Amino acid sequence: MKTIHTQQSKPTCEHNVTASTFVPTPDTGEYDIPEQLQIMGHKYTIYKSNTLNVTDNTSAMVNTSLHHIIIDNNFSESCQREALLHEIIEAMNYHMELELEHHKITALSEGLFAVLHNNGLTFCKE
Ligand SMILES: [Zn+2]
Repeated sequence: MKTIHTQQSKPTCEHNVTASTFVPTPDTGEYDIPEQLQIMGHKYTIYKSNTLNVTDNTSAMVNTSLHHIIIDNNFSESCQREALLHEIIEAMNYHMELELEHHKITALSEGLFAVLHNNGLTFCKE
């Protein structure tokens, strides 16, 4: 069983932060995290930041009004990928008014990430 200590717990994600609270950094192209995503009928821009964790103790944020997803690139590749999935689900949660709590979204994003990663799934590529 996994024990989570308070100081080592998973970073939270913040919602509807303003764009001025982060410093975007150029995408190094190391991982294939997209620069834009269509989520429902909304075009989201994906930004990387190297200050998110420092300023907000978080690995990623979504702004459902401005349609921004911000990912801290100091986190490991797997954390960044999972964080992107998490924020996609957060955005869907908002647009569809599902009212899922953060910890349930975390369970879904970690579970989905594991299935996609462990099976090497890229089933939507043409
Ligand atoms: Zn969340």
